[in-house]
Order: sequence, then C-alpha cells, then structure tokens
Amino acid sequence: MSQEIIRSTVVPIIYLLSTVLFIFGIKQLAKVKTARRGNTIAAVGMLLAIIGALLELGIVDYRWIVGGMALGTIIGATFAIRVQMTSMPEMVALFNGFGGIASALVATSVYWDLVVQRGATGTVYEALGTDEAITVMLSILIGGITFTGSLVALLKLQGKLRKGQPILLPARHYITFGLLFGSLAFGGIAVAAAAGDSVVWVLALSSVSLILGVLLTIPIGGADMPVVVSLLNSYSGLAASMAGFVIGNPLLIIAGAMVGAAGLILTQIMCVAMNRSLLNVLVGGFGVADGAGGGGSDEYTSVTSCGPEEAAMILENAESVIIIPGYGLAVAQAQHAVRELADLLKERGTKVTYGIHPVAGRMPGHMNVLLAEADVPYEELLEMDVINPEFKNTDVVIILGANDVVNPVATKDPSSPIAGMPILNAHEARSVFVVKRSLSPGYAGIKNELFEYDNTMMIFGDAKKVLQGLIGEVKDL
Ligand code: NDP
Repeated sequence: MSQEIIRSTVVPIIYLLSTVLFIFGIKQLAKVKTARRGNTIAAVGMLLAIIGALLELGIVDYRWIVGGMALGTIIGATFAIRVQMTSMPEMVALFNGFGGIASALVATSVYWDLVVQRGATGTVYEALGTDEAITVMLSILIGGITFTGSLVALLKLQGKLRKGQPILLPARHYITFGLLFGSLAFGGIAVAAAAGDSVVWVLALSSVSLILGVLLTIPIGGADMPVVVSLLNSYSGLAASMAGFVIGNPLLIIAGAMVGAAGLILTQIMCVAMNRSLLNVLVGGFGVADGAGGGGSDEYTSVTSCGPEEAAMILENAESVIIIPGYGLAVAQAQHAVRELADLLKERGTKVTYGIHPVAGRMPGHMNVLLAEADVPYEELLEMDVINPEFKNTDVVIILGANDVVNPVATKDPSSPIAGMPILNAHEARSVFVVKRSLSPGYAGIKNELFEYDNTMMIFGDAKKVLQGLIGEVKDL
C-alpha cells in the first residue's frame, strides 16, 4: 500500500475509530460497573492513536519512539501500581503536569524546526502561518502553567509545601495579572517578530508561563487542591488541543477538547457540591486550619463515646441502618470490613443502605470506587437527594471516617466555611455512631456539632479496627 493511500484513507479511519473509542470509553466511565471496561476501551483508543500517528509520519526514527514509549510505560505503570487510593489526586496532578509540558514541548519543537532550524526569513507568522503561530504561543503558555501549577499542587497535596497552607505573597494579584499580561505580550511580540529575533521572546514566554503556574497555585490551600487539580486537568486538555492545531492532528484536537471539557465539568460539579464558586476556590483561603467559623468555640464539652460492644447491642434491635462512608474509610482501607458488617446485619434481617455524599473523600466518586472494590452492591449506594428523606425513619446511622459531609453547621451558620454545602442529614436518625480516631476536624478544619448531639455516640479508633470489633460483637449476638 502506498504512503499516499495510508495517509489519505487508512490514517483517517484509524483516527475516527480512536475518537469513537475515546467517546465510548468516557461514557462507560460514568458508571462504576462499567468504569474498568471504559478505561480499557480508551487505552485501546490511545494505542490506535499512536499507531495512526506513526503511520501518518511515515519514515521516523523508531528507536526514539520505542525508547520513549518504554520509558513512559515504566514510569506510568510504576506510579499506577504503587499509588494508594487516597493519593489518587496526587497521581492525577502529576499526569496533568506531564500532559501540559508535553503539549508545550510539541509546540516548541514545531517552532524550533520550522523557524529556527530551517533559518526562516521574514516573521514567525509568515514562517508558520498566523493561526499556527498563535496556537504555538498559546500551547507554550497553557502547557507551562499546567506543568508548574500541577507540580505545586502535587507538593501541596503531599503537605510538602508549607504543610499545604496557602502562601500569600504581598501584592500577589498585581504580580499575577502583570505576568499574565506580560506573557500575552511576549507571545504577541514573538508571533510578529522576525524569525531570527523571536527566540528571546519565546524564551521569555516560556519562563513567565512556568512562573505563573507557581504563582497561581501557591495561594490556594492544600485542601482545595482536588478542585485545582481538576481545573489543571482541563488546562492540560486545552494545551493538548492547541498542540493538535499546531501539528495539524485532528485526533489530538478532539481528545484535548474532550479532556478540557470533562475537566471543566468536573470542576463545576465539585464546586456545586461544596456550594462554592470557582473564584472563591481560587482566591479564598478555605482549608486554612484556623478553626474559623463553625459556630463559636472549637472545644467539645459534651461528647458521649462507647465501644463496639455497646454499639452492637443497639444494632441488635435496629431494623434499618444507613452507613455513611467518608475520607477516613479510604485512609483506613476499611471497605471490605464494612461490607462484612453490612452482610452480617442483612443476614439478621436489618435493612442496610449507604448514604453517598458527592464530595465525600477527596475526589468525586471516591466512595463509589472504594465500595465497588469490596463488591458492595451498587443498588445499595444511595445519593444524597434519595437518602436524605430516609434518615428520620432510620434506627441507626454509622458514620465511618466522614466529618464535613455530615456537619449540621453547614445548614445553620452562614459564617461557616462550609455554609450552604448540602449535607447528609445523619443527625435526624434515632441513633448515630461516629467512627473516627479523635475529635480532630476534617478537610474544612472546623468543629462538628453533631459529635455533641444527644443521639450521637463516638466510637474512637481506626475505622477498620472498630469495624472488626463490631463484626466480632455482631457475630456473638
Ligand atoms: P473529612 O475530611 O471531613 O473528614 C474525614 C475524617 O476522617 C477526619 O475527621 C478524620 O478524623 C477521619 N479519619 C482519618 N483517618 C481515619 C481512620 N484511619 N479511621 C477513622 N477515621 C479516620 O471527610 P468527608 O469525607 O466527610 O468530607 C470530604 C471533605 O473533602 C469535604 O469537606 C469536601 O468538600 C472536601 N473535598 C472533597 C472533594 C471530592 O471531590 N470528594 C474534593 C475537594 C474537597 P480523625 O483524624 O479524628 O480520625
């Protein structure tokens, strides 16, 4: 088959197939049951995309490509195998950063090849074409911001940068806006500059974009990083889409646009579920552990606690139980233990369901994924709107490592950092058990008045150990 036919017929078909697989894969990711298959389908789409690109390029040095793919596979597989479920946002942050820098490097290499290497005469836009020249600069800008922004997000999530606290530079808004305008100006000058003089402007644009990524991310509290990571994910898609325009690859344009849109939608879902605007996330100091808000003193005065034995006695007579999982369940890796307890209770005739808050844990769908790992039946996981009317008719609620998502202050105190965030109305049940290790606050850094309610009993300890204790007690009933 001639190279001409491969380029004009085979490659477009491969790209079309690959696009269909991406769309189908993303669709399947929407449900826990089909998510794994969706991932595999999208990965096959990516493999096809690579094959299509290699066929399109024709004669290339495969040694570099094979070497690059081997290195990428080793790094990617190592991270994916080693990552803990609770560190997933960190891995996503790192991969976003890689995506951003890859797009910026693709754009830079096109500029370097067509303008510098070939000693183009005239201006950069004459050498590249106006549209391409602009997308090259935008790719470098967005890719650079995504790269360093993601690295800062990673360090903050790991608590390695000032323990995740916001770093507020004096006059930071002026500096940031100054640099943003500066970068646009450098990009514009680079496009219009004579080819020979443009290198210095492209270098200036690259440096400023890298600095901007840092400056835009350091003022945001570590606790807000999952939202920022989702936004950076959207940026990395945008950068990839730009790179697609630069190299004239329709598949990269489509895939990048899909990532850009998906990241933006996810960011919006998170903000709505937390009842916060994106602007509030980007400029607010949420998650700063100053204990502000939440209604008065942070001290607890009247907390009742009990052990698994007492809890099991109450569970013995319960007809209905709602389990509320939270971040602590993921930390304790107690998903299998919770399933075992639920099975035991169901064998005794108790109705068991799970109340899932949209932002429980540290990423959207965190609890669904965690419980699916232990084969908890999907039908038992009920979303907030469905489960909330049920609490007042429920005998026992067991809260496992959740805190903010059941904090009634959100509905009562407008000055609270979580004011307006919809919560699971656990406090309306007849008895509430809260399983956590101490009275420490959750993500929002505030007191939870539920812990002092008359119908609440704390069971202090690691969620997995407490559940194992409860399982032993329920078996003995
Ligand atoms: P929280 O962060 O409010 O609370 C988690 C609790 O788990 C802590 O109070 C901690 O208490 C407890 N815990 C930690 N380790 C263990 C353990 N081993 N065993 C038992 N308990 C443990 O979690 P929620 O899920 O209630 O709320 C999620 C928060 O994250 C919300 O504020 C949400 O807005 C935010 N968020 C969520 C995102 C998402 O997409 N899901 C994205 C961004 C933010 P102790 O130390 O005493 O054990």
